[in-house]
Amino acid sequence: MADAAERYAGGVIEATNRANLQIRGVGSQQAALIHSLLAAGLGPSHAAGDDVRNLMLSPAAGIDRQMLFDTRSLAEQILATVQRHERFHDLSAKFAVQLDGGEALAMLEHPHDLWLSAFERDGEQRLAFGLAGCPTDAPAGSVALGEGHGLVIAVLELFLEWARPEQTRMRHLLAEHSIENLLTRLAQRVSIEVMPDWRRSPNSSVLHIGAYPQLEPGFVYVGAVPPLGRLDPAMLRGAAQLADDFGDASLRFTPWQSLLLPNVRNEDCAEVIRRLEQLGLSCQAGQPLTRMIACSGSTGCGKSLADTKGDALQLAALLQRHGHAPSVHLSGCPRSCAAAHTAPATLLAVAPGHYDLYFRDAAQPGFGALHARNLTIEAVAALLDARSRSPLDA
Ligand code: SF4
Repeated sequence: MADAAERYAGGVIEATNRANLQIRGVGSQQAALIHSLLAAGLGPSHAAGDDVRNLMLSPAAGIDRQMLFDTRSLAEQILATVQRHERFHDLSAKFAVQLDGGEALAMLEHPHDLWLSAFERDGEQRLAFGLAGCPTDAPAGSVALGEGHGLVIAVLELFLEWARPEQTRMRHLLAEHSIENLLTRLAQRVSIEVMPDWRRSPNSSVLHIGAYPQLEPGFVYVGAVPPLGRLDPAMLRGAAQLADDFGDASLRFTPWQSLLLPNVRNEDCAEVIRRLEQLGLSCQAGQPLTRMIACSGSTGCGKSLADTKGDALQLAALLQRHGHAPSVHLSGCPRSCAAAHTAPATLLAVAPGHYDLYFRDAAQPGFGALHARNLTIEAVAALLDARSRSPLDA
């Protein structure tokens, strides 16, 4: 990936909030670039199946100490089915499914068209599920673990049968059909139980930054955040080399626009962190830059009203001086490409270097409650600092 970004593009690699990597600034040799990525094993099993591989797991799937089951084999089964069967290729590339095995490290705030979340009842493992929402919402129902694949396929089939071409997401379908109707039809295909009042508990927001013990004693994973989700080829190669030298030669990516090195021995952890930081990645949750996300901004997107990435760097430096690290999202326009969830604080660009500031508020849609308009970055830093003893990052 690093070679391809260097050879066929400008060398900018971005970690996305779908836990993918994007190569930006691609020149005229797109076919050669795609060929090189496919040769590295990064493609789909069927060309037409690429867009439908939109299934997100915990970055710590299979190694998390709190997980109830290893989601990876069920995920592989689901992916194989949606790639192999042509009828699923009609799904929108944005149609997203989340499979949560109960891990402590899990993104629970991004809405998905279908989510599944593991829980235990009377010694039996089951999967709660919901439509057009997040695993912390009240579930619509549950199935036995062994029915997980069947449920996903039944939901996808029902969606494709009922949705008109312009209805690309589950929320579009639910605006027209009641959830009860959908569940009744699903129950004809899979054995569903309407849920008792089980709810997925929320988790800590910093488990993707730094070192955490794995299920297997003696091993940790190390989470590292590239500044504002942007990597250069040297950083990616360096991280890959560390995974080779100290891990299991694999890197995982996270929906927090960061990466994770799994299966590092306890005794190597400090050295891995030192080298990641030498490469320019951060492993300390107290550093403001690790808690900041920004869309491409005016240097990479014609719609942006400000240089969000540059302004985020400036804001992080100011907050660092104040010793305060709130979670902040900077967006160049209301489309919010960098965040699928509402951040505790959002800066929406209104002009170069100027932003409206919103604070998350469950009662308000979108970015939350508008707190102040047309602030400079210095004014934002002063304001966030003044609020530093409020529960902004709760
Ligand atoms: S949020 Fe708006 S300005 Fe930022 S990358 Fe997306 S479209 Fe462009």
